[in-house]
Amino acid sequence: MKRIVIRAGRERSLLKRHPWVFESSVQRGGADAGETVRVESAEGAFLCWAAYSPQSQIRLRAWSFDEAERIDAAFFARRVATALALRARLAVDSDAQRLVHGEADGLPGLVVDRYADTLVAQFGAAGVERWKQPICAALLEQTGLARLYERSDASVRGLEGLAESTGWLAGDGATELTIREHAWRLTLDVAEGHKTGYYLDQRDNRRRFAEVVKHYGAKSVLNCFSYTGGFSVAALAGGAAEVTSIDSSAPALARAEAHVALNGFDAARHTALDADVNKALRGFVREGRRFDAIVLDPPKYAPTSAHAERAARAYKDINRLGLQLLAPGGLLFTFSCSGGIPPDLFHKIVAGAGLDAGVDGPILERVGAAPDHPQTIRFPEGEYLKGLLLMRT
Ligand code: SAH
Repeated sequence: MKRIVIRAGRERSLLKRHPWVFESSVQRGGADAGETVRVESAEGAFLCWAAYSPQSQIRLRAWSFDEAERIDAAFFARRVATALALRARLAVDSDAQRLVHGEADGLPGLVVDRYADTLVAQFGAAGVERWKQPICAALLEQTGLARLYERSDASVRGLEGLAESTGWLAGDGATELTIREHAWRLTLDVAEGHKTGYYLDQRDNRRRFAEVVKHYGAKSVLNCFSYTGGFSVAALAGGAAEVTSIDSSAPALARAEAHVALNGFDAARHTALDADVNKALRGFVREGRRFDAIVLDPPKYAPTSAHAERAARAYKDINRLGLQLLAPGGLLFTFSCSGGIPPDLFHKIVAGAGLDAGVDGPILERVGAAPDHPQTIRFPEGEYLKGLLLMRT
């Protein structure tokens, strides 16, 4: 077993059970991509077993802080079992859910989503890449499912020196699937969709939006960055009379229109707009349009804190426009999925947008990702999705 020695003083985060070691904290030692190494302090004390990633800034990802634990196929089967046991307790109201959420489930770099009878896995780090075969075997055996599709095409693969890899790892057949989320039916294509096919992390917020639309009697609803219209279906279910979905992806919008019909809503209540949100919102402001409820769920503007400043301007712009377009008493459900924008900064950005728009009002709720995307106490980086529900007074 190869040993990696950490610079004196840099072992502190590992002692707090944080799973990452950056390149600059490594004093000496090396290994192959994904190889299991023994990580030691400068004094030679055991710190953890970890996966080595020679090309990544995140040079080590800890597997276990228990010196007696062996990192073998049985280890991965245990981690998968623990992740599945948590999901079983969460009682998610959908047949689509995240089964493995990377670091939070002790499997750094691995994402596994279940969509009805199909598993979709994303291997985003050298360690899980190396253990792909036993991880997949454990997933298939423990879920009892026969289909597993790989979507290792996220940009983080490049940072790890890994090539893209997509396709069936087990089973085959149609990549187009139908899932149930709350009372709704939705479709996705696991080969073509964003991420693994759908944004499962917003599940509970979509349900909340349906309740809020109903409770406040919102009639005209604008869903910005709609993707396949999950929040639009929620708004229609909540009784909205007219819902507009805006996205720059034509296939996503086509699916949003199909979802309106699939859930039994009159197509006349829904408009799909293939446009840049920023431009579309400016146009609406010029036309003097007003909406009773608006969703702003933009893509990740700041993957890390290095992008925070430019991202902050982009968030402020769309939030200013969104707030301007609210009718009095209207609701804004605004999100940031950027890990580089912490919740307090997001609040400040939206506050700045309100000031510029000349709009104020109470924050009714603060929300995050659905619990099958857990944030653990030891891994604050896991907190990425945050949302505010605001009312314009
Ligand atoms: N709210 C969605 C997920 C949104 S993901 C859900 O609940 O499923 C972000 C979406 O923003 C993607 O569909 C992407 O196509 C779209 N997008 C990115 N930049 C855009 C832009 N400038 N204008 C319009 N849509 C954009």
